[in-house]
Amino acid sequence: AAGFAGKTALVTGAASGIGLEVARRLAAAGASVVVADYNEQGAKDVAAALTEAGGRAAAVRVDVTDPESVRRAVESAVETFGGLHLAVNNAGIAGASAPTGEYGIEDWQRVIDTNLNGVFYSLRHELPHILASGGGAVVNMSSILGTNGFAGSPAYSAAKHAVVGLTKTAAVEYAAQGVRVNAVGPGFIDTPLLQGAESQRAHLISLHPQGRLGTAEEVAELTLFLLSDRASFINGSYHLVDGGYAAR
Ligand code: NAD
Repeated sequence: AAGFAGKTALVTGAASGIGLEVARRLAAAGASVVVADYNEQGAKDVAAALTEAGGRAAAVRVDVTDPESVRRAVESAVETFGGLHLAVNNAGIAGASAPTGEYGIEDWQRVIDTNLNGVFYSLRHELPHILASGGGAVVNMSSILGTNGFAGSPAYSAAKHAVVGLTKTAAVEYAAQGVRVNAVGPGFIDTPLLQGAESQRAHLISLHPQGRLGTAEEVAELTLFLLSDRASFINGSYHLVDGGYAAR
């Protein structure tokens, strides 16, 4: 264990996919990891596996669409491990697929609540504790759809673009106080999030010049770099890990 020893990290959406891989790597690198997810049993299983593997981890149930739930989860992280230094605001949903002129109003609100408001609520409650702990780093999980449109995903694309703006603003606000805030923009990644899109799989692969989907490991690699002191002058920016998608 190296790199993150003595640091407490909160990862939302850590019961599955990208968040799970980020949590695993943070624990392996010595961080105390709070595995936060609204899938409570999933979070407990992940925390138990990380502890079994020799790491320090605890599970907390959080619904990122509920600011009070987020506040409680952040406070429990601080109480469990003392302080908060690192946060990965990663919980997200794919949402319904329909063109903008037909998009369900409730479907829109659910995606915005989770993928945008959830990131704001997380930052809102994490930042005071990160400051109180002497500074740290945050990664917000955006998407390639934080810069591209995608037919059938108006809410998802709007939320992921907005996360980039929120990231830049928080970075500017807190840079002088020793907090870095960056966004990661993955291309399509082979996780349970894509389960509803199996019929689209060949099309999704064709969007990536590398001819395949990405892996959660490849996204976690960039995320851990951005959280680390090796990225000490990287702040307020949006970093793609997309197999060439945006270059087409
Ligand atoms: P995933 O479905 O494997 O994991 C998402 C996790 O978030 C799940 O464990 C789920 O329970 C949790 N979650 C969902 N809503 C929540 C809520 N309201 N409160 C707390 N937890 C909640 O998905 P993933 O692919 O690992 O996605 C992680 C992040 O990466 C998301 O923000 C997603 O938009 C983003 N992303 C994914 C892809 C992709 O292709 N998979 C591409 C770009 C960006």
